Amino acid sequence: MLKEESILFSLKKITFPFRMPYLYTLMTVDWQQGRVVKIIEETWNTRRFFIEAYQTTTFDFKPGQFVTLDLPIHEKKNKRWRSYSIASRPDGTNVFELVIVLVDDGLGTNYIFENIKVGDEFTFRGALGVFTLPEPIEHDYYMICTGTGIAPFRSMALDAFHKAKPCKHFYLIYGTRTKGDLLYFDELKQLELDFPSFTYIPTLSRESWDGRTGYVHAIYKELCNGKPDAHFLLCGWKNMIDDARRNLAEMGYDKHQIHFELYG
Ligand SMILES: Cc1cc2nc3c(=O)[nH]c(=O)nc-3n(C[C@H](O)[C@H](O)[C@H](O)COP(=O)(O)OP(=O)(O)OC[C@H]3O[C@@H](n4cnc5c(N)ncnc54)[C@H](O)[C@@H]3O)c2cc1C
Repeated sequence: MLKEESILFSLKKITFPFRMPYLYTLMTVDWQQGRVVKIIEETWNTRRFFIEAYQTTTFDFKPGQFVTLDLPIHEKKNKRWRSYSIASRPDGTNVFELVIVLVDDGLGTNYIFENIKVGDEFTFRGALGVFTLPEPIEHDYYMICTGTGIAPFRSMALDAFHKAKPCKHFYLIYGTRTKGDLLYFDELKQLELDFPSFTYIPTLSRESWDGRTGYVHAIYKELCNGKPDAHFLLCGWKNMIDDARRNLAEMGYDKHQIHFELYG
């Protein structure tokens, strides 16, 4: 038995705690090659990468899933892996989009921003993950995120709109520091006009404007007052997710109503 197989065998015998499905799927899906076909500078520190999975004609995934890149930044395999949620919707082509923020002193993102150009190829695995919407969608969903945590929600909302999926209502509560940090702002404003089941609520924590200000937490507390059937999708970094989970538990929501994708 190979080393990886024996780890899988022992993993199958135990109940998966919190992060195990993530590790499990990372170990069981094949690697393939991708080619960068377009890069857009979305904000001062965030880029959109369009990747062609050129070994296949259709890159199939569920909105909310992610891919894992194998970057040449370390000798050990698992220290080279960085995961990114797919920001585009499954449209039947073999091109998908990632939206990546440059992290100060971040090994992977500094490599990506300094080295990856249009035409470059890299190895990736996926699509992976279980941070996806159920079918049918029977509840209102409050999507709560900051920064690049918007990626899976953009994919979900665009997919529901383009496929005219029967759904209740999506509320996208999106926090950044300034207006210039808001990703996909014009597109999501337009989507709100075109898609009656979608409400977009951007909020800024460090700038005044004609929209909401402050952190995301005040907004779902206000909107969900008296809505015991609401479901929540949280995506982003630990501090925001920890605070939201604690608040939602205090508001009386059960664990099965709160789903999250932790970036780190
Ligand atoms: C399932 C999944 C999906 C993800 N999707 C995305 C995505 O769509 N877009 C995206 O930009 N990132 C995403 N991430 C995060 C990504 O995988 C990397 O962790 C991130 O790009 C930093 O990698 P790095 O090698 O540059 O930093 P590292 O060298 O690995 O880390 C540097 C340090 O900074 C911390 N850190 C890293 N980034 C941030 C941040 N933004 N805010 C606060 N602390 C941070 C790390 O925890 C670490 O302590 C996702 C992570 C997971 C697990």
